[in-house]
Order: sequence, then C-alpha cells, then structure tokens
Amino acid sequence: MIIKENISLKEFNTFHLDVKTKIFIEIFSEDELREILNQEPYCTLPKIMLGGGSNILFTEDFEGSVIKNSIPGIKIKDENEREVYIEAGSGLKWNDLVNYCVEKNYGGIENLSLIPGTVGAAPIQNIGAYGQELKDVFYSLNGVTLEDLSLKTYSSNECNFDYRDSIFKGKLKGKFYITSVTIKLQKTPVINLNYSALKDELQKMNLKAITIRDVSEVISNIRRAKLPNPEILGNAGSFFKNPEVTEADYLKLNKEFGELNGYKIANGNYKISAAWLIDSCGWKGKSLGNAGVHSKQPLVLVNLNNASGSEILELSSQIKKSVFEKFGVTLYEEVNIV
Ligand SMILES: Cc1cc2nc3c(=O)[nH]c(=O)nc-3n(C[C@H](O)[C@H](O)[C@H](O)COP(=O)(O)OP(=O)(O)OC[C@H]3O[C@@H](n4cnc5c(N)ncnc54)[C@H](O)[C@@H]3O)c2cc1C
Repeated sequence: MIIKENISLKEFNTFHLDVKTKIFIEIFSEDELREILNQEPYCTLPKIMLGGGSNILFTEDFEGSVIKNSIPGIKIKDENEREVYIEAGSGLKWNDLVNYCVEKNYGGIENLSLIPGTVGAAPIQNIGAYGQELKDVFYSLNGVTLEDLSLKTYSSNECNFDYRDSIFKGKLKGKFYITSVTIKLQKTPVINLNYSALKDELQKMNLKAITIRDVSEVISNIRRAKLPNPEILGNAGSFFKNPEVTEADYLKLNKEFGELNGYKIANGNYKISAAWLIDSCGWKGKSLGNAGVHSKQPLVLVNLNNASGSEILELSSQIKKSVFEKFGVTLYEEVNIV
C-alpha cells in the first residue's frame, strides 16, 4: 500500500485536471482495501475509489481520501468445452484483459478493445462500444460493502445493467467497491458485426475468415483515428449519454428537423445521437475559456489548456441548455462529476 498526502491528481485523471486530494492511497489487494477502510482517519473521511480516472470530472480539490485501485491479476476460474470463466482483479487495465482474451482466442470482449480504464470500473457504467456491452459477457463481481466491510458477490441480474448504467451508479453509488470481475467467454468465438462501420471496414480487407484479433485491430485503429488521445488532449471520452425519447417525440422531432439520427430500442422508445444534437447546435470545435468541444467528435469535451473542472462543467451546462432550447431534449452526463 502507498499513502501520500496533499498530492495533485493531474496524472490520475484523463482530463488532466490539476486538483489536489488530501490523502491518496494506492491499494494492491482486497485485504489492503479492507484494512484502509477500517482504519482512522481514513474510515471517517470522505472517500472515493479511482480506477484509471477516464470517466471522472473533478470540479474541485478532494477533501478526503482518493483510493487508487491497483488490484492486479487474471485467472481462469472455470471452463468447459465451450466456455471459459475469467476472473480479473479490478485494478487491471481493461484493455490488458481484452488483449489477454484475444491472444487466447476467447471471444466476447474484442469489440470493447481499447476502452481506457480499469476492469473494476467496467461494470459501473456497463461499458459499451461497437455493438457490444459488458453485460453481454458479465458473470459476477466481488467487492466490499463500505457500511460493514462485508464481502459480497453480485450476479448479472443483481447489477441492474442498462445503457451506461448499473446499480453501482444508482442505489450503491459510493457504497460498494468492486475488487474483481468474472466474465464468461466463448472458446469458439462468434464474430459480432452488428456495428455497420466495423462491418464495412472488415469487408474492405477481403479476409477469408475474420478472427477476433482482426476485429480487435480494426476497432483499435478506428478508435485511434476518431477519438482524441487523452495523453495529448485531456478528455474522458463521451461526456453525455445518447438520450432516449418516446416514439411520439421522435416522430415530432424528425418531422421538424428531418435528418434526426436515431434508432428504435427494445422498450419502443428511440435513442437519438447526442453527438448529432450537439453538432446541430453548432458546438463542434467551439471553446469556452480553456474547455472545448472536439472538432471531430462533438460528444467529447476536451481540456485545451490547463482548464479547471468547473470550466468543463460550465461548457457542458451551456451545451445542455442549447440542446434543450432547440430540441426540448435533456442531455445527461455519462461522466461522473465529483
Ligand atoms: C478516449 C476515451 C474513450 C472512451 N470510450 C469509451 C467507450 O467506448 N465506451 C464506454 O463505455 N466508455 C468509454 N470511455 C469511458 C471510460 O473509459 C469507461 O467508463 C471506463 O470504464 C472508466 O474506467 P476508469 O477505471 O477510468 O474509471 P474512473 O474514471 O476511475 O471511475 C469512474 C467511476 O467509477 C467509480 N469506480 C471506479 N472503480 C471502482 C471500483 N473498483 N469500485 C467501485 N467504484 C469504482 C469511480 O468512483 C467513478 O465514480 C472512454 C474514455 C476515454 C477517455
């Protein structure tokens, strides 16, 4: 365990916001986590678990303990002829888990290649990309309940997974720290080409048979081309979720604005592209102080030059306001505001 006081979190969040934390504790095992949660002054101070800091916006200094999760490990927990159950430590980088599975030809998470952050944060917002979500392969997770430090396992049903959502963003927000995640993958991978841009790209390659390695490589290349690299331009990926509207509202908006970008979802409502809404309000490439909207992807807010968290928050509020004024649609943040 490593404990430091009054340090900057600039290198621990992908927006690279220069906020301070009173206490910074890096933990490497579940035992260390429970030890720290049981010990004064840490047990009484406000606290937050931090993974890769790629889905978080710090708006001010943190007057408590930031617990940086570095719990490692990958192991095969169980397997049969068709499936393999892989348990990973929650502090492992998500993409290291993807690479391990692609290497072994275990299919199911290759479409989630190159998503930044840790394994433990993946269930928090049920990460998703290129026609796949974590919930499709999720089996269970373990962790510590903050109230009494008991260990608990959550099955898929208990996690209430939804679009960029789970019980850990709702009822259990800040009340449960995930220490490991188990996923169930296929030994004979089924290639998922639901996402048309991925299908088009793979078709261009004229491959005899598509492997999960091909899928992973193509997705990684598309992502590198489309999204700003947080090492170069601070950002936290999509800042907003794609909003959901009723069929009646969708038809009304479509009539008024024509090319509305959206699709029907299982409950009969429509998901509409937040990027399209923001772009239509003229925000692409615009800036407000040191905070900006990315020039290629308007859903991504960027730190142009030592922005503060409140500058980015102010920009996000203005975007929400103009989208609401023009379309009557409310945008909700995907990023966790602290
Ligand atoms: C360039 C870029 C591209 C991205 N693309 C995608 C994408 O395609 N799809 C997608 O879904 N997301 C995407 N994201 C968002 C982000 O990568 C994911 O949400 C990721 O899972 C966050 O992981 P993290 O470890 O960085 O979490 P953090 O930012 O450290 O934490 C996020 C939240 O989870 C909590 N938390 C973290 N770890 C734990 C734990 N072990 N137990 C309990 N609570 C915890 C934190 O307190 C915080 O509230 C992208 C981000 C960037 C910067």
